[in-house]
Amino acid sequence: MADPDELRERILSWYDEHARDLPWRDPSASAWAVLVSEVMLQQTPVARVLPVYEQWLEAWPTPADLAAVPTGAAVRAWGRLGYPRRALRLHAAAVAIVERHEGRVPDTYEALLALPGVGDYTAAAVASFAYRRSHVVLDTNVRRVLSRVVAAVEHPARTVTRAERDLATGLLPADGSTAAAWAVGTMELGAVVCVASGPRCGRCPVADLCAWRAAGYPAYDGPPRRGQTYDGTDRQCRGRLLQVLRECEGPVHRGTLDAAWPAAAQRDRCLLWLVEDGLVARVSDETYALP
Ligand code: SF4
Repeated sequence: MADPDELRERILSWYDEHARDLPWRDPSASAWAVLVSEVMLQQTPVARVLPVYEQWLEAWPTPADLAAVPTGAAVRAWGRLGYPRRALRLHAAAVAIVERHEGRVPDTYEALLALPGVGDYTAAAVASFAYRRSHVVLDTNVRRVLSRVVAAVEHPARTVTRAERDLATGLLPADGSTAAAWAVGTMELGAVVCVASGPRCGRCPVADLCAWRAAGYPAYDGPPRRGQTYDGTDRQCRGRLLQVLRECEGPVHRGTLDAAWPAAAQRDRCLLWLVEDGLVARVSDETYALP
């Protein structure tokens, strides 16, 4: 395995020089801004997140501001970011922050994890990036980089394994600020250089330390990876129905939703899912609206 000190040193220096200038990385970004960005960035590229993030923080600069509006306002502002349940999760977290923490985003991993809709990754990321606490932050990009550099495997397992967590814990700097820089640096390397397909090894600061490269890039032979298909899926259908509701101020007649997605059985199933999930409210037998 590559020398851990050397690995950390190279990635930290590379990040120092190549980090993208993003608003949630600014030292002035509040813990709330970091939490909002982390939820929005899950499975969504930076370019799509940026405009929604900025509008969101302008409308709701603190958890109390978001907690004071109906959930429908959050769903509307989520726009086309995808996976809109995240808007409801953020709203629920804002309410809990107001009720349990006097409106201040808590500063420990445990208290963050206890917020509704906040999982291990988000709790660790906010504790690390907003409060400079030393935590293992394992997102897809970090996992891919470590898997390639250390384990000589092109893609990590579908879910985080014990071995991966132990490896990441062993590499974690003890000092909180350095740990935060290490986490975000590894994340950035995975996002812009060690990308999922077609890694740019010629621009990689740890190319000569990379076990997967040294082994001659052995082909991935693990279980099939999740596809990225979107067209025609329930997810696309739900997105289309929500878009219609977002674009109207008041309740929308069923016929308008029918026109937005022609496949009736799929449309009915998706509408029911949206209602059951709290993303859409059934106003009458024939009309629907954002909650
Ligand atoms: S050398 Fe290539 S595969 Fe290895 S970490 Fe760098 S970009 Fe990724």
